[in-house]
Amino acid sequence: MKKTIITDLQCFITKPDRHNLVIVKVMTDQNIYGIGCATFQFRPKAVKCIVDDYLRPLLMGKDANNIEDLWHTMMVNSYWRNGPVINNAISGVDMALWDIKGKLAHMPLYQLFGGKSRDAIPAYTHATADTMEELYTQIEQILSAGYHHIRCQLGFYGGASNELNTPENSMPGSYYDQDQYMLKTIHMFQKLRETYGNRFHILHDTHERLFPSQAIQFAKELEPYKPYFLEDILPPDQNEWLAQLRSQCSTPIATGELFNNPMEWKALITNRQIDYLRCHVSQLGGITPALKLAHLCENYGIRIAWHTPSDITPIGLAVNTHLNIHLHNAAIQENIELNDNTKQVFPGYITCKNGYFYPIEMDGIGVDFNEQTVSMYPCEYRPHEWTQSRIPDGTLMTP
Ligand code: MG
Repeated sequence: MKKTIITDLQCFITKPDRHNLVIVKVMTDQNIYGIGCATFQFRPKAVKCIVDDYLRPLLMGKDANNIEDLWHTMMVNSYWRNGPVINNAISGVDMALWDIKGKLAHMPLYQLFGGKSRDAIPAYTHATADTMEELYTQIEQILSAGYHHIRCQLGFYGGASNELNTPENSMPGSYYDQDQYMLKTIHMFQKLRETYGNRFHILHDTHERLFPSQAIQFAKELEPYKPYFLEDILPPDQNEWLAQLRSQCSTPIATGELFNNPMEWKALITNRQIDYLRCHVSQLGGITPALKLAHLCENYGIRIAWHTPSDITPIGLAVNTHLNIHLHNAAIQENIELNDNTKQVFPGYITCKNGYFYPIEMDGIGVDFNEQTVSMYPCEYRPHEWTQSRIPDGTLMTP
C-alpha cells in the first residue's frame, strides 16, 4: 500500500457550550485529513501542549497507515506513560489516524472494525432534579423522545441534602450528606417503580460518593428495584471491595470512566467483578486501546457502556457509536443532547433517534470540524468548585 505521509498536526480548544473541547487534526500528503477527540476539559491547555510540542515533532513525516506502531511510539516516547493528559493527546491523533484510514478505504469506521453486530445501539440520557415532581416532568419528556433507559438522580451527585449541619467557618466546597443521599435515592427508586413499573430501565450514578461499607449496603438496598446498572459505586482505588459487594447482591455494577491504565482494569475484568465497563475512550488513548479492551471484556462476559458525557466532542460521540455498532458486547450508549453552537462547530454531528443511535454511513468517523468557529467560542477556564466535594465535617471526598 502506498504511504500516507503526515505533513502536519494541529490542536484546537473551543468552548461552544459548557465545556472546553479539544480537537486534533492530522494532515497528510494524500489530500486527506483526519480529526480526533482529545477532550480533557479540566486540563485542556496541557493536552494541547503535548500535541503541539511533543507529538507533532515525533510524527511529522511518518506513515499514517501504521496506526498500531504510531500508537505505541506515542505511548512510550515519554517513557512515563498512561496518564490522563498524555492519553488524551494520543487519542486525538489515534482517532484522526483511524479517520484517515476510513477515508482512504471509503468505509465508515464500524465497517473497518469488522462490520455490524446490531441494527442500532440503545441510548440513555439523564434526568436530574431536586424534587420528585421535577424529576417526573423530566422523565415524561425523555420518554416522549423515545428513550427506554434513563439515568435518574435526585439532586446533583451526592443528592439534594436538606440540613447539612456543618461546623462553623466551613471550608468552601460542594457539600453533601451520604446518609441523606442513600435514603433519598432508595426512596426515589421506590417511587419510580410505583409510578412507572417496568416501563423504562433506571440507571443511577453514585459518582464515588460513598465509603466502602456504605456502598455495599446501598447496592443491596437497591437490588429489589432492579437498576439497569449502578455506576461508580466506589472510587477506583477502592475497587477491591467489589468482591465483597458481589458476594452479597446481584445489583449490576458499571465503572471505568476514570481509568487510564491497563493495571486499573485487568483484575476487575478477569475476576468478573463488574458487569459493564464504561471507560472514556479518549482517556484510554483512543480507538486502538478501546478495541483491545472491549475484546478482553467480551471474553469475560462483561458488556460495554462507553462514557459519553457532555465533555466529549461530537467526534468522540461518533467514535463511540461506530464502536457500539461493531462490538458484540456493546450494551448501551450515553447521550447528552447537543446545543446549537456545538452543532455549528461540528458539521455532520449525529443525534439520537427514538432512543437509538444508528450506524453512521460516512467514510471514516463521518463528523467534521469547522476550525473557523474556534475564535467565536474560545477556551475559557476557571477552577471547578464541584470537584471540591465535601461531607458535612469538611472532609474532601473524590468528586
Ligand atoms: Mg459517571
